[in-house]
Amino acid sequence: MTTATVGAAKLTRIEETYGFFFEAKQFFADWRDEIAAEHMSWMVPHHYDPATGFLKLSIHSWLLEIGGKRILIDTCVGNHKSRKHRPFWDQLNTPYLERLAAAGVTPDEIDMVMCTHLHVDHVGWNTRLDNGRWVPTFPNAKYVWSKTDFDHFSAIDRDPAKGPAIGGAMRDSVYPIVEAGLAQMVDGTETIEEHLSLTPAPGHSPGHVLINLTSQGKQAYFSGDILHHLIQVYHPAWNSFACADQPTARTSRRMTLEKCAGSGALLAPQHFGAPHLCHIEAKGDGFTPRFL
Ligand SMILES: [Zn+2]
Repeated sequence: MTTATVGAAKLTRIEETYGFFFEAKQFFADWRDEIAAEHMSWMVPHHYDPATGFLKLSIHSWLLEIGGKRILIDTCVGNHKSRKHRPFWDQLNTPYLERLAAAGVTPDEIDMVMCTHLHVDHVGWNTRLDNGRWVPTFPNAKYVWSKTDFDHFSAIDRDPAKGPAIGGAMRDSVYPIVEAGLAQMVDGTETIEEHLSLTPAPGHSPGHVLINLTSQGKQAYFSGDILHHLIQVYHPAWNSFACADQPTARTSRRMTLEKCAGSGALLAPQHFGAPHLCHIEAKGDGFTPRFL
């Protein structure tokens, strides 16, 4: 189990899946085998499979424990969800809640859930199936996400042409939270509580947020899908196929890496392969990772 300390805060990675979902050259339009060849020494085996050309990606949450509070950041794909648009995420049945229990936390003990954005692999465990109904998995939590993303994906969900591409995630994983009165939608730069603040980081989705943790002079940034893969630290201009606004996604990625490099903050993304976390150092006009 990956853990890290940031001041008085403890971070624990809660894995849902870790595997090969996308071919590298389909995921990154900028992928070139000759560029990738320079990175094989660190990419294999935790980040790339040269035999198939597939990226290795993790889907995980970060459990953040600080000052007696337990906060879950991004909630993966979830169990029993119909995701016909992504067969590898369809009807999952993983021991995610058992892994959370192994980290010492039950669903009732989660005080807050934060979604960096409202894509299907970041909202799934918001709810669980109970007698045919989707109910909040974390009934004592407030759920924080951006109003911009909520409005954007609600409009897509209502559009019969575009709706299927988001797999029903709004209906089974987001609206039930709103109906239960647990949603707290945010807009712009906000302080959520003493140690946590949000900065808009649009591009991958219109309302994507960057979450900053500060404790005892130490910092971490939870960056969701601003970066998907460690190779983007070396090549911050590389966007994924899923980045909605490509120029803006590049700007938010560079902003995030600059914030980390300038402050010594830990970078905690949602999909990096092992060791899943790193510090960032500026190098030339790019960046390099430095591991714990
Ligand atoms: Zn994602």
